[in-house]
Amino acid sequence: MQQIIPKKCTVLIIGGGPAGSSAATHLAKTGVDVVLLERAEFPRNQVGESLIPHFWKFTDQLGVSEKIQQQGFLSKAGGITVWNGQVHQILFSDYGYTRPGLHVERDIFDHLLLEHSKQQGALVFNRVAVKQVDLSSANPVVAYMDTRGEANIAGTIECRFVVDASGHSSLLAHQLDTRQNIGSEMNFLSLWGYFKDSRYAGVDRQSHSYSELNSVAPVTFVMSHEDGWLWHIVLREKTSVGLIVQSEKMKGMDKQQREFYFKQSCARLPHLKDLLRDAQFIEGSLQYRPDYSYYATQTCKENYYCIGDAAGFVDPIFSHGIQNAFYNAAVASLAISESLKNTAKSARYAQLCESRIQQFYGFSRALSLGDFGVHGVNRDLVKSLMKSMSPLELGLMLVASEMTNRSENFKQLAHEAGVWERFSQQHEQQKRGVIEDLKF
Ligand SMILES: Cc1cc2nc3c(=O)[nH]c(=O)nc-3n(C[C@H](O)[C@H](O)[C@H](O)COP(=O)(O)OP(=O)(O)OC[C@H]3O[C@@H](n4cnc5c(N)ncnc54)[C@H](O)[C@@H]3O)c2cc1C
Repeated sequence: MQQIIPKKCTVLIIGGGPAGSSAATHLAKTGVDVVLLERAEFPRNQVGESLIPHFWKFTDQLGVSEKIQQQGFLSKAGGITVWNGQVHQILFSDYGYTRPGLHVERDIFDHLLLEHSKQQGALVFNRVAVKQVDLSSANPVVAYMDTRGEANIAGTIECRFVVDASGHSSLLAHQLDTRQNIGSEMNFLSLWGYFKDSRYAGVDRQSHSYSELNSVAPVTFVMSHEDGWLWHIVLREKTSVGLIVQSEKMKGMDKQQREFYFKQSCARLPHLKDLLRDAQFIEGSLQYRPDYSYYATQTCKENYYCIGDAAGFVDPIFSHGIQNAFYNAAVASLAISESLKNTAKSARYAQLCESRIQQFYGFSRALSLGDFGVHGVNRDLVKSLMKSMSPLELGLMLVASEMTNRSENFKQLAHEAGVWERFSQQHEQQKRGVIEDLKF
């Protein structure tokens, strides 16, 4: 017997990825009646398998860290980059992190988070796609298509707040025409696929066979190439390999040509070809995302909040996506629960949330865009965020941006914000992070 979708609720969340599920958990924990509509059937696939250790502070708040640990995802000690021929290694433990980063299968990770939100009391419906949100009255009305049964059934649900966590499809930003592309200065696309039995880069800078995963910890491997950059992320039963490529390079290519380009790059690029020498490509696993950089100019109003990728996404280079999703969900949930307590202030809470979301994205953009400019960055907001960050966290970000030749914006903003001296020690450490070569 199918669970009936209610006609009304207090908060309606669109999408059950990390942003939506964590907002649902936060709100359900405080006793708010939450309905979450997800168009896919979970577990569903998603790109973005590298988590930097910052994420634990959010999963602690959600009360889900223990479940994540029990899942046995692969722990990673840091990353190795080969950028324009220069090799760097970064270890999270050098920046005060006592917990590791993770390589996660996103279908499992996201499912675990969504199940957790159900356990906290959120009403979750898979295979129900939101089509339209009517924001013309104080209480939004959300139109959906329920695809659970043999025939699709249209319906509506009225709520006090809509949270758009629809990810890359950014339903509300499209509807409200607030979605902006980053601009021609950074126009990349991504192609990614999966391999069986790939070797992996170990924390000892050597390449290891898959069977050694239990004895030598992996790192995320990132490398620049002539058309962009790539990642190699080993998971428990397969390995994710992704290419970020200037869109111009692949203009006019069809699916087959893209696959040819991908396979050829994997067989040709130094280091990557060594890691993949014993590996088999999992046929049918290649995926493609054009124009992945965009942002919404307005993310929060009195009765709606856009969070996670629905609010914007810059670039996967610093593994910021899931962290952003968690952060946005936390601030939006706080703004909503405070608004429920004090309706007269709901516009003010939405405004505060808006500036927090733009601040974090601005920081991410300033970091990721590097030489590509600072399109859409509110410098003052970013500087105030930098002032509140710990020197170790800033140090790690500086190093990461140095490793990938993107540190100009970051350094300039850190100087302007007057925080540069606080973490210049880490900058020295970064120089020590330069290593001669990889042993593979
Ligand atoms: C190439 C690439 C590599 C990346 N690598 C990393 C990485 O290594 N580490 C990292 O942290 N981040 C990475 N990211 C970013 C990361 O994947 C996203 O930031 C993260 O998934 C955002 O979570 P979310 O919940 O906002 O959106 P999603 O995870 O996309 O979830 C959105 C959900 O909404 C559902 N939905 C969409 N439309 C509707 C609708 N109309 N009705 C109902 N449901 C709907 C979808 O089915 C989906 O389940 C990467 C991104 C890209 C493009």
